[in-house]
Amino acid sequence: MQGVVFTGNRKVELLEFPDPTPGPGEVVLEIKASGMCGSDLGVYRSQGGGPAMAAALGLGGDGTAVIAGHEPCGVVVARGPEVLEKAAPIGARVMVHHYDGCGTCSHCKQGWAQLCKGGITVYGITGDGAHAPYMKVPAHTLVALPEPLSFAAGAAISCGTGTAFGAIKRMNMPGGTTMAVFGQGPVGLSATLLGKAMGTRIIAVDISDERLALAKQFGADETVNAGTDDPIDMLHQLTQGQGVDYLMECSGKSDARINAIRSAKTWGTVCFVGEGNDVTIDVSPDMLRRQLTIIGSWTFNTIGQGACAAFCAQHEVPVDDLFTHTYAQAEAQAAYQLFDQQTTGKGVFLF
Ligand SMILES: [Zn+2]
Ligand SMILES: [Zn+2]
Repeated sequence: MQGVVFTGNRKVELLEFPDPTPGPGEVVLEIKASGMCGSDLGVYRSQGGGPAMAAALGLGGDGTAVIAGHEPCGVVVARGPEVLEKAAPIGARVMVHHYDGCGTCSHCKQGWAQLCKGGITVYGITGDGAHAPYMKVPAHTLVALPEPLSFAAGAAISCGTGTAFGAIKRMNMPGGTTMAVFGQGPVGLSATLLGKAMGTRIIAVDISDERLALAKQFGADETVNAGTDDPIDMLHQLTQGQGVDYLMECSGKSDARINAIRSAKTWGTVCFVGEGNDVTIDVSPDMLRRQLTIIGSWTFNTIGQGACAAFCAQHEVPVDDLFTHTYAQAEAQAAYQLFDQQTTGKGVFLF
């Protein structure tokens, strides 16, 4: 079969891989949908591509090319030895929690394999991902896809949308409050969608008018263009001078992080979700003397992934609308070229 590989310097190649066969504890999925995630761009733009990126992030891997795609969704087509039929029935519609760890530490036992200290595999970065017709994963990474959700929706929940849901849960955000979401890429737009479904007033912040227009379509009550207006002023104006209750920072930019902190109300909560870069906080005025809670949130565990899918199914959250572009595998180079401009919604490969 062919798989999409990030080979470095914005190059995407379709390379030949053997069809996977399941070993002990493993299953093979026929991939139906494989999402494009904002964090793919770091790998796509890097010098050495996937293997070099994995080494730089301390994620291990043996330096060989791996198939990209860490938002897998499909159906079970083969089971290896030691996998119970009831754990992975042939034909079951499933998502993948795209990490594997030691399987025995407290993080792994709680479904947080990505926090394992024993060395982890991140599918799509250090292990073969889902931008291919078939994917082999340990059976314990499977999360059932509820019937009303499409395979594309399951792909989104497998990273971007699940990450937004996980951050909202980390913040303990009740309905009826106001949340500002900095960055309206796939994760931020998901936060806008989910926040609205939870009864939250949403203020979307971005520097792209295209993305702010999308946010408005997804139910944002207000939008702020941080490239043309001062977001701290605007967010105070939109909250009667009080500042915002909850703020989620999805862009990973230093200035957006400090703007989020300075736009929070006293006793407010700020959650960092966007990866990379740094931030300088003037601790007394920015944080202590306003009793802020500043937290970080990295994706979700297997339980949270299932909870996100159940929420989306029960509240009829239009997750599919996140995808502004669908592609065939052969269009991968063009797909990432467009995604790299960061003005569109999300893309998905359908098989
Ligand atoms: Zn991702
Ligand atoms: Zn572990």
